[in-house]
Amino acid sequence: MDEQAALEQQKQNCIFCKIIKGDVPAKKVYEDDLMLAVLDINPATKGHILVMPKEHHPILPLIPFEHMQHLFKKTHGIIKAMKQALLCKGVSVFIANGAAAGQQSPHFLFHLIPREENDMFSAFDLPVTGSKEENDKAAAAIKERINGMMRAYFSQTGQQGLLHQEEATSPPRGTAAQPSSPPQHTTEEHLDNLIKTINEHDDLKQAIIERPAEVKEAVRTSEKWRKLFASVDIDKLSQNLKAMVAAQRKKQGADLDKIGEVL
Ligand SMILES: [Zn+2]
Repeated sequence: MDEQAALEQQKQNCIFCKIIKGDVPAKKVYEDDLMLAVLDINPATKGHILVMPKEHHPILPLIPFEHMQHLFKKTHGIIKAMKQALLCKGVSVFIANGAAAGQQSPHFLFHLIPREENDMFSAFDLPVTGSKEENDKAAAAIKERINGMMRAYFSQTGQQGLLHQEEATSPPRGTAAQPSSPPQHTTEEHLDNLIKTINEHDDLKQAIIERPAEVKEAVRTSEKWRKLFASVDIDKLSQNLKAMVAAQRKKQGADLDKIGEVL
């Protein structure tokens, strides 16, 4: 069974999709086109609410940005309402993303749990594991990926955010423009710069898609190109760009702003 068929089957059996469709009863506290909030039938405390997108998404990163934004905007109001209605002292927002994190439902959702001082829960009492060195390595690896993700987000929402803006360098040898010397960058800036350069130069984009071997050779032989493509898997980038261009051809007027997602 392919991935899409497996997802369809998961949707068919999903209790939360059934609740959303109205096939299974639930105490709804808030509903709109994109989301539903219901009381948990096994409440941890009185007024325990589950918030979910109406579309079936197994995990958080698969939820479209605008839906995620909507969920949290509305959650802001739901929490205020909970505090006023229940006179609770606080609300825990609990998200388990992935089975290893404790996610039990195949439909992504999160919990809003009313809290009192000295209630049955302690504050999250997490053990301290991992060395500082390992933690630093993890932070560096996450940071390396995050700029591309953020750029994709801001390009979708039309916001600039706090991303670093700078002049693009030129495209690779064999394309219309000639490379200039890019300034020294951090890893994040490299990625940002590369995304911008690819977006601005169709000939470079074509070269990556159609002639990845030539691009790799340029990267191998030119320090400037090595710097521009630092730590990027060009074969993978080529395949992903190709798929993205094909998908976007179907969508008239689309651009390649989402390129950050493939890096
Ligand atoms: Zn579902």
